[in-house]
Amino acid sequence: MLKKTTLIDRYAVAGNPVSHSLSPQIHTLFAQETRQPIQYTTLQIPAENFKEAVLQFFTNGGKGLSVTVPFKKEAWLIADIRTPRAQKAGAANTLWMADNQLIADNTDGVGLIRDITLNHQISLKNKAVLIIGAGGAAQGVLQPLLDEKPKQLIIANRTASKADKLVNLFHTKNNLSSCSLQEVNGDFDMVINATSASLQGQTPDIPATAINSNTICYDMMYDLKKDTAFNQWAKQQHAKTTLDGLGMLIEQAAEQFFLWRNIQPKSAAVFTALKNNH
Ligand code: NDP
Repeated sequence: MLKKTTLIDRYAVAGNPVSHSLSPQIHTLFAQETRQPIQYTTLQIPAENFKEAVLQFFTNGGKGLSVTVPFKKEAWLIADIRTPRAQKAGAANTLWMADNQLIADNTDGVGLIRDITLNHQISLKNKAVLIIGAGGAAQGVLQPLLDEKPKQLIIANRTASKADKLVNLFHTKNNLSSCSLQEVNGDFDMVINATSASLQGQTPDIPATAINSNTICYDMMYDLKKDTAFNQWAKQQHAKTTLDGLGMLIEQAAEQFFLWRNIQPKSAAVFTALKNNH
């Protein structure tokens, strides 16, 4: 008698270090909810071996990779095809194979926008938005932020020349501009922290006047147990609301899941599960 077998598709998050990643938990919860037969693990890759390790993963039947620090740029470079949003982002966090071609996408921007506009019901239309930081995360979310049609989008960075470069890269009309942290002038409807300062318990050195009692502050970093350093600081400045990047992380993963499985998982239950389990 023939035995009925279920084929399990393999996925992983590639990074270094990667053991701390929440992606296996998130994708496993998505798979349970949507009844998809997948296994999702971590893939720690030595810094110099990224391309070989990725190609081996797919040659051995792997179906898709999430990519995290420090490989997002390299993932973008080694791809045969980049989606338009990956093209703009200059970095990739999602890889898969189709017709023997390695495809790269970037879901960080859509993750941030869905968290802000759908989960938190905040509109950015005609709003004054400050984004602090000009690294990979900032570049990845710029086009999706501009698509929301803010009145003004200012990129402020510790190294001001990097913020200038980003503005030049996006050379859109006059609602996008750049400055140093100290040059931030006026107050904002929304302040997004896209620096890695919170990782060291630090806050970017912007004037406190950027925040008023109607300002919504969003730290792309997240902490499952307490406020991030930036959000603690924002609360001291009497910001209206402080949000962290857990919702963005889950939403960018949901978009990856959709790209790989063609089925949109629900994110709210995953958010609650992660918050309750840590
Ligand atoms: P990068 O290393 O590419 O960029 C780091 C940025 O932070 C630079 O602009 C750097 O300024 C700035 N910075 C670092 N330390 C300080 C400090 N003490 N004061 C002021 N500015 C500082 O990192 P990424 O862009 O890839 O990531 C940024 C953050 O976004 C990380 O915390 C990451 O965890 C988070 N992230 C969250 C995601 C999510 O799904 N929630 C997804 C992607 C990223 P300078 O140019 O002067 O060095």
